[in-house]
Amino acid sequence: MHRVRGYKREKMRENELSLELLARLKSAQRVVALTGAGISAESGLPTFRGNGGLWKKYKAEDLASIEGFLQKPDVVWEWYEYRRSIYAQAKPNAGHLALAEFEKIFPGFTLITQNTDGLHRMAGNENILELHGSLRRNRCHSCGKLYPEKVEQNGKIPPRCACGGMLRPDVVWFGEPLSPFVLDKALEVSSRAEVFFSIGTSALVQPAATLPLLARRKGAALVEINIEETPLTSQADFFLRGTSSEWLGKIKERIV
Ligand code: NAD
Ligand code: ZN
Repeated sequence: MHRVRGYKREKMRENELSLELLARLKSAQRVVALTGAGISAESGLPTFRGNGGLWKKYKAEDLASIEGFLQKPDVVWEWYEYRRSIYAQAKPNAGHLALAEFEKIFPGFTLITQNTDGLHRMAGNENILELHGSLRRNRCHSCGKLYPEKVEQNGKIPPRCACGGMLRPDVVWFGEPLSPFVLDKALEVSSRAEVFFSIGTSALVQPAATLPLLARRKGAALVEINIEETPLTSQADFFLRGTSSEWLGKIKERIV
């Protein structure tokens, strides 16, 4: 048993939630959840590091970058069309649905996600900060105008904006900055959180990975849910080993 700042760290017990965590949740108003690709794994969407990240002969890192897009815009567009065709079949799972309930239970609940799949919105969450943008939108590379996911191609790959610029998915690529508005808001809610959940994220991608640490430094209880330990685990007040649907479902049942 490892104690951190007076909280007893959940010691990988499979079927028991600590009373300290439940008490903390029952009195909490400002609760934040940060989610990563792991929460969508049970909806059939591969995690970033889980599927080898390969499509045809390209590495995901080379496709999800502005350099890759400028070199081979048609290949990058087709890769995203392929991903969208997989995402179009996906439905929110019990983990997403529990977080939609959290938004009703806690007066000040914010969901911060690194996912671009749109499943949290489909599950019913409204107060969402999409740190890495959304695959459900496109954006003009030249003028920034936003477009829906499905656009007229008019024989051009990628399709073109009214200004003539190339369209790209409205996601944040490697090496690109996050939206300052979204990031500022995420920093603000994290620093004011009473309980902060880090769920299904490898906690390696910056600046998302700093949010749980900021929250904890400012006094939040830090709860991590993951099927395996991450670089964050040693900092967590409560580590719940297992799937997000399993643990979030259990927590929801105990706090309603
Ligand atoms: P990651 O792939 O680096 O890490 C996924 C984490 O989820 C791992 O720590 C893994 O142990 C954990 N995990 C796997 N299945 C789980 C489950 N059922 N329950 C709980 N945890 C589980 O993902 P990341 O940290 O989000 O970073 C990768 C980047 O790529 C992010 O920007 C991410 O959003 C993006 N991405 C998004 C999607 C999506 O939108 N669905 C899919 C792949 C990658
Ligand atoms: Zn344009």
